Amino acid sequence: MTTATKTVTVIPGDGIGPECVKSAQEIIAASGAAISWDEQIAGASAFRQGIASGVPDATIESVHKTRCVLKGPLETPVGFGEKSANVTLRKLFETYANIRPVRELPGVVTPYSGRGIDLVVIRENVEDLYAGIEHMQTPGVAQCLKLISRKGCEKVVRLAFEFARAEGRKSIACATKSNIMKMTEGLLKRTFEEVAKEYPDIESWHVIIDNCAHQLVKKPEQFDIIVTTNMNGDIISDLTSALVGGLGFAPSANIGNDVAIFEAVHGSAPKYAGKNVINPSAVIGSAIMMLRHLGEYEAAEKVENAMLVTFEEGKHKTGDVVGYGSPEATSTTAFTEAIIANL
Ligand code: NAD
Repeated sequence: MTTATKTVTVIPGDGIGPECVKSAQEIIAASGAAISWDEQIAGASAFRQGIASGVPDATIESVHKTRCVLKGPLETPVGFGEKSANVTLRKLFETYANIRPVRELPGVVTPYSGRGIDLVVIRENVEDLYAGIEHMQTPGVAQCLKLISRKGCEKVVRLAFEFARAEGRKSIACATKSNIMKMTEGLLKRTFEEVAKEYPDIESWHVIIDNCAHQLVKKPEQFDIIVTTNMNGDIISDLTSALVGGLGFAPSANIGNDVAIFEAVHGSAPKYAGKNVINPSAVIGSAIMMLRHLGEYEAAEKVENAMLVTFEEGKHKTGDVVGYGSPEATSTTAFTEAIIANL
């Protein structure tokens, strides 16, 4: 039986993005998955062309058609300039939930190895302080609006419970700062408690976000799924990535009703761009999530197993693992070839 080829919009992105995305594309091609790519731009290259949103019309059209994106990180000038092209993409396509799984990986040694970390941060992805409503109130006073809706909370909370059932997971912690922000953060907590009544098979509990950060460092294995607001989720998912080896290993999926965007948790790490030294695992992991989303289960399994075997063989040790410039460090391309050899 031949499978129909599925077209995916690919956005190589900025900084280390193109190297990570190329690695994932080569591995997918070698796996035999029936994927073709429609390459588009967003981020710095679009800003350079004077496109204020950072997302050209051609990219938007492509995503409307393919409804599936593999994306490298996009650079956003820090503290000045245009709004983030990432935020624009997430809002445009209403990818209301960001799923960020981390688990202990064989051969990737960390201070937490052996404790069985296997958890997923599910972050609300379009509201909160990242809605982009920010202005100077008066000279010297800036204001940012924290926008939280009942509907937005319900969507991400329901997705978290359905995801728990689909993955056979047992418990969800809702992490908020509702002790201080009773209306906004409190709305997620209240919505979570209401929706939880419909899922008596899943244990549900609330934890204050600062204690959640503390507990994640102290006893991360107690967590299964954490559902949280946008900015909290952004911050704690960088923390959770560090528990299993760092940002180089952390994949994610932005999920909406119509469109899904798969990308690493990490950013464009400009310092390491073009040097063939970075770790492509996070983008490869995101591509594996993408293959499952597209129903390419066999290819997903094949790529995942090949990557895990490569970790076990110790052929994954890029600069972030053993130190940049270390004689032991492997290159991005050598690591990619090792995965392909294990397919
Ligand atoms: P970053 O995630 O790009 O990098 C932080 C550090 O993590 C790097 O210096 C590096 O040491 C390490 N790192 C990250 N990815 C790695 C990889 N694949 N392999 C090896 N090491 C890796 O964070 P930053 O420096 O704060 O942000 C840089 C830019 O990226 C900013 O413009 C920011 O806005 C953007 N950003 C984009 C996204 C996205 O597109 N989804 C996410 C986060 C940050």
